[in-house]
Amino acid sequence: MIQVGLMGGTFDPIHLGHLLAAESAREACGLDEVWFIPAATPPLKDHAPRATAEERLEMVYRGIDFQPHFRAMALELERGGTSYTIDTVQALREAYPGREFSFILGADRVNDLKDWHRIEELAELISFIAVERPGATMDTSQLPAAVRERVKRCEMPLIDISSTDIRTRREDGRSIRFLVPDKVYQFIRRNELYGS
Ligand code: ATP
Ligand code: MG
Repeated sequence: MIQVGLMGGTFDPIHLGHLLAAESAREACGLDEVWFIPAATPPLKDHAPRATAEERLEMVYRGIDFQPHFRAMALELERGGTSYTIDTVQALREAYPGREFSFILGADRVNDLKDWHRIEELAELISFIAVERPGATMDTSQLPAAVRERVKRCEMPLIDISSTDIRTRREDGRSIRFLVPDKVYQFIRRNELYGS
């Protein structure tokens, strides 16, 4: 079976934390590929994405930049509406029977896993690869046992970058250079995303 890690998120914009999480999980967990899947409407966020779906997808393409093991998938954007991971995983399992899927997520998302739509069902279909993230202490004690035992931790260099901080920096007219891949940086500047 080909091992695929799914990297879900809003990617508003994609940044080096996402890429390093994907690469660390790939190496530590022996993944053959990582697929980046931007959400249309993320279920647990209290605000809509700032950039359009097309812009976020384009930034993901530029961010992964033909890395041989990385791929971008538009299925959640094409499906539209609220993007539930269970729907995505069910669609992918049907479309790609030769692959086994796991889901990569940062500590903040591990902590809200208990609130995910149909989480126990999802945990029967995939395992979770959890990476540390500054500002969030990973706590699996609140998770149902069946979910908790599907979470495996993976080391990654702590990297204190978030899309929220990048958007705030843009609003404040501060630099985001080297927080995002250069091609993403150029795209944000050229299209005047998130401020000037
Ligand atoms: P926002 O601030 O808008 O929520 P974000 O930086 O958290 O953006 P998301 O698109 O929400 O990015 O995150 C997608 C996935 O990447 C989540 O599982 C998140 O935990 C993980 N992630 C994001 N940034 C990091 C980071 N710096 N280190 C580890 N994991 C990260
Ligand atoms: Mg986030």
